[in-house]
Amino acid sequence: MPVTESPPLSTCTVRIERRGGRGEAGARALKRHLRNISGVHDVDVSFRTGSARVTYDESVTSEETIRDAVRDRNVSIQADSETDTDDVSSRSELRREAVFVGLTLLGMVTGLAAGWLDGPPLLTWAGYGVAYVFGGWYGLKGAVATLRHGAVDIDLLMIVAALGALSIGAPFEGAMLLFLFSLSNTLQHYAIGRSRRAIKSLVEMRPDEAQVLRDGEEVTVPIDDVAVGDVFVVRPGDRIPLDGVVTSGEGTVDQASLTGESVPVPKESGDEVFGGTINESGSLEIEVTRRAHESAISRLINMVENAQGEKAPTQRLIDRLEQPYVLGVFALTVSAIAIPLALGGEFTSTFYRAMTLMVAASPCAVIISTPAAVLSAIASGGRQGVLFKGGEHVEAAANIDAVAFDKTGTLTQGDTQLTDVFVRETAADSLTDEGLLSLATAVQARSEHHLARATVAAAEERSLDVPDARRFQSVAGKGVCADVEASTIHIGNRSYFGTVLGDAAVEGLEPGLDRLRTLEAEGKTSVIVAREDGGDVTVLGWLAFTDTVRPGAAEMIGDLRELGVEHIVMLTGDNERVAQRIADEVGIDEVQAELLPEEKVATIEDLVDRHENVAMVGDGVNDAPALATATLGIAMGGAGTDVALDTADVVLMGDDLSKIPYVLGLGRATRRTLIVNLAIAFGAIALMVGTILLRGIPLPLAVVGHEGSTVLVSLNGLRLLGFRG
Ligand code: ADP
Ligand code: MG
Repeated sequence: MPVTESPPLSTCTVRIERRGGRGEAGARALKRHLRNISGVHDVDVSFRTGSARVTYDESVTSEETIRDAVRDRNVSIQADSETDTDDVSSRSELRREAVFVGLTLLGMVTGLAAGWLDGPPLLTWAGYGVAYVFGGWYGLKGAVATLRHGAVDIDLLMIVAALGALSIGAPFEGAMLLFLFSLSNTLQHYAIGRSRRAIKSLVEMRPDEAQVLRDGEEVTVPIDDVAVGDVFVVRPGDRIPLDGVVTSGEGTVDQASLTGESVPVPKESGDEVFGGTINESGSLEIEVTRRAHESAISRLINMVENAQGEKAPTQRLIDRLEQPYVLGVFALTVSAIAIPLALGGEFTSTFYRAMTLMVAASPCAVIISTPAAVLSAIASGGRQGVLFKGGEHVEAAANIDAVAFDKTGTLTQGDTQLTDVFVRETAADSLTDEGLLSLATAVQARSEHHLARATVAAAEERSLDVPDARRFQSVAGKGVCADVEASTIHIGNRSYFGTVLGDAAVEGLEPGLDRLRTLEAEGKTSVIVAREDGGDVTVLGWLAFTDTVRPGAAEMIGDLRELGVEHIVMLTGDNERVAQRIADEVGIDEVQAELLPEEKVATIEDLVDRHENVAMVGDGVNDAPALATATLGIAMGGAGTDVALDTADVVLMGDDLSKIPYVLGLGRATRRTLIVNLAIAFGAIALMVGTILLRGIPLPLAVVGHEGSTVLVSLNGLRLLGFRG
């Protein structure tokens, strides 16, 4: 993914009307129009999902200008926040379409029966009339809308073919074409609506009310009226209504609806909990941290919707080809009439054959093959707590052949614990373990690093008095220092003492480094603590830490290999020996240790050179640049942090490592589905066109083949909704 430098670009998603047509030729016309606005860099429009995503330069244009430009083209804009009403309207729309399909069938059967039974001609024509009006209604509407944008689409092809059949005295064939055409359109809408609703059902499970504590009393309050800082109560078996932090009580929470993790997570005071998840045991008091509409689950749903509007490369290609293809089919049809007639052929049979050819060659199945699969894949991921930021990332996941993992917080749990405090024997003035720890804590209280947090936690556990620190400084990937009492305290690794302190002589450094090596050989991440007094630096002692490997890490690596991943790498700022130990435990091929944050980026670039398609897995906190550099950046723990959501291409809402093989597996399953779909679609066209040219087939058969393949690819795509890994 290229990193865009200046100017800073913004992206907005405008919810637009959803349209009946099959193709996106009209959408491409709107896209061209929006692209012409100065300051607009990139546009993706889909009438199918009802979204227009625009990337623009805020200093040149604004979201308002873009919205106006959309309205200029007679495209209506939907309110974007709460999509429930939108859902209801799309459901009633679907019902109306189904009624129209029914009326088309009724009209067609009436017309046919009246014709057979020698009924009154008026009844025959009335029957076919009904079939043509109701069967052609949506197609005509779509075709006209597209024509108004100056483009032609497949809806137009179908309407022309039906009228053509009518004009040569084959009203039944035309009616049947319109019936199957409207039926398969309705099925497609259902399929696409399904993949949208699959996600929506998650938020419906969230309670509408919370039991809020007001002056010691429990009051039932609608969740939209609960403010940040309010405290609410949940009992065993309750669903948690809002995101918050546990203030008292202990319990286990089933977070499957949000993160897809099957194992319930223990929660105690200080832990984060999320709206929509289920409290299984224990009563909890929870302080609200986010309003209802900002909760993790609302964001997930919103982002899945946006993701479905961003097209995969295959689909962009197909969208681009739609218009020329449709024109090509028109040209083919015209020559299928003109050439035989010029050679003295008979009009009716020539025309009939040309109509058959037009239906058979229409690319409806080709056009629906990709979105049917990709939208289902994105929705299926959403239900497992896996957020793809767009269709292109589903396709990218299919091709990954090397995976790089960040160590801390990704392969390990990130719950770093301080295990040992050593005071150097020769250290001056009878420093105790506790004295050393409180000096270190004074400095680390200012740092966000996991080693710092572990140090502070250990001091709190021992209820130590911690002095104040001033002039805190941190050197990324190396260490920290600050002034404590009358001197400066330095805490860092080998490289900190080698490079940051430069030539300053450090008393006791040699034995210090020896101790570091011994501790690291035991798999403990270790740092040296030293004091600087008027230019003299003296080592005071060492601190050692451990971090547990996540359960299931080794299996996850095994699953990746089974999926065909060739190379697995671990990247870390931590020490080589510690890293190697963990790598051996879980089965990693290559270890890149003692990396500075910018070196992680260079390592990913190098991996991309070697393997082309590289996924990077991190927690998004300090590895954002590396996530952005990889072909596919996967961030874990997205429910809790916003950073991860911003930088990665795929976000795992939870911390469940088994979702990484799931991501790659889903990508590969989607690719297989696409290949099968395109084979069905093109195969059906080739077979029918070939047969028509060689010996001719009846128009109804062409219609069945054409619509049948369209329905088949839709259903085949929908299968991905059930993908479990
Ligand atoms: P990682 O995320 O892989 O642990 P970092 O770049 O954050 O990598 O840190 C690399 C190393 O830098 C740590 O293992 C430690 O030796 C040193 N370091 C970084 N920050 C601190 C800190 N606040 N205190 C002590 N050591 C630190
Ligand atoms: Mg890290």
